[in-house]
Amino acid sequence: MKFTDFNLKDTILAAVTEAGFKEPSPVQKDAIPLVLEGHDMIAQAQTGTGKTAAFGLPIMSMMKADGSVEGLVIVPTRELAMQVSDELFRFGKLSGLKTATVYGGTAYGKQIERIKQASIVVATPGRLQDLLMSGKIKLNPHFVVLDEADEMLDMGFLDEIKNIFTFLPKERQTLMFSATMPKGIRRLAEEILNDPKTVSITKSESTNSNITQYYYVVQERERDDALVRLIDYKNPDKCIIFCRMKKEVDRLVAHLTAQGFKVSGLHGDMEQKQREVTIRAFKQGGIDIFIATDVAARGLDVNDVTHVFNYHIPFDSESYVHRIGRTGRGGKSGEAITLVSPNELRTIKRIEKDVGAKLITQVIPTRIEVQNNRNDALIARIADTQITDKAIELVKTLQHDLDIVTIAHLLASMVQSEISVKGKDNIGLGLEEVELLIERAMQNRGGGGGGRNNRGRGGYRGNNRRRSGGGDRNKHGRNGRSGRNGGHGSNRG
Ligand code: AMP
Repeated sequence: MKFTDFNLKDTILAAVTEAGFKEPSPVQKDAIPLVLEGHDMIAQAQTGTGKTAAFGLPIMSMMKADGSVEGLVIVPTRELAMQVSDELFRFGKLSGLKTATVYGGTAYGKQIERIKQASIVVATPGRLQDLLMSGKIKLNPHFVVLDEADEMLDMGFLDEIKNIFTFLPKERQTLMFSATMPKGIRRLAEEILNDPKTVSITKSESTNSNITQYYYVVQERERDDALVRLIDYKNPDKCIIFCRMKKEVDRLVAHLTAQGFKVSGLHGDMEQKQREVTIRAFKQGGIDIFIATDVAARGLDVNDVTHVFNYHIPFDSESYVHRIGRTGRGGKSGEAITLVSPNELRTIKRIEKDVGAKLITQVIPTRIEVQNNRNDALIARIADTQITDKAIELVKTLQHDLDIVTIAHLLASMVQSEISVKGKDNIGLGLEEVELLIERAMQNRGGGGGGRNNRGRGGYRGNNRRRSGGGDRNKHGRNGRSGRNGGHGSNRG
């Protein structure tokens, strides 16, 4: 299917081509025709699936660009407001459709001016309600979109949303997007939608299929070591680590910074300016690792996150879906990695069932395995490197005192020392041990689930453990932290 198969305006199609979109995403395939037919809609789609275009393209295609506000998009956070605005601006600019972004914490004057010139307003609930209740603005949009509705309810915006709708025209087309469909969302949908069509991706698609999901079983005290080892092994370009509590975020920021990673924490109570600066640094690559709580990461929209780590398993399946949806965006692949203790195996099995996806158990790579990976990548990088004139000069100088083999050994030792892997040899539980614990946990549902068995680890830690472990080992072939821009082992099988 192509975008030209939809009945979209030429200027909108041209913008889609300019954006480089080749093929509509699943939610776009389902939603765009329904919206163009004028239906209200409730769509289950998480961020990263192309939902902004799923509503943006058809509603903009139907707009007249007559100078009035024709569309209103309500989003939970300021960051999402900016992100959605940017995306809609791209789609609308060839059609003469302007976008205004409305959120709290900034002066009213400019925002009101922009609203007066806009065809689409993208707003957070608090500020929008203020503007409407104080009479500073009047809106008469035909198209109303609630984006990430479940997040808005979680954040306690239900009253604001209901109130906002009392200011909106009865004759309208309303679209609601939500990653999850808890009862509160369904109730709200009944109130504000008129005979809606449903776009629901099947359960197995509720987490993006571009995301490979792994879990590793570790003892409670091994979490920090396991995290560092996995980052060393996966060598993510950009990753987000989720924690349950703010104090855990602080502690991990200190711990990973001490290990030499470029890390920053994201706090719910961070000043908005500071938050923006940090997020920009993450987007631009000045920071590789973000550590955040669920609340702090709300609305965080970064496109090329390669890995999401759950330092602790989230409290519920919905948070799990939200967290891992930060990777695998825009058709790219991503990995979601969860650390669980033996006592949490039942929870991970429940999440697996709820999200309808397979979570793969893996064994944490040993120090030697990571080291070997890095060596492979280093060899590849050396082989890929161009010889420079300066290097030839340097070797000539060294040859005054040393023979060529010694020079080579010295240089190799120097680069090798930069990629040495720290930490314990073995971390976490072996596969057979995990399987046994899962079996017990599932049999003994009333009981504590596997606590007793955790002690006898020694027997599982030999070759046995390695034989069955690590399906994706060697897949990455990446270099260590020092070799980020290197030739990632491309010619090494
Ligand atoms: P969203 O779910 O709207 O936040 O979109 C996630 C990312 O995917 C954004 O960067 C979009 O520009 C991009 N995107 C949306 N639809 C497509 C598509 N059909 N093809 C390629 N990229 C897309």
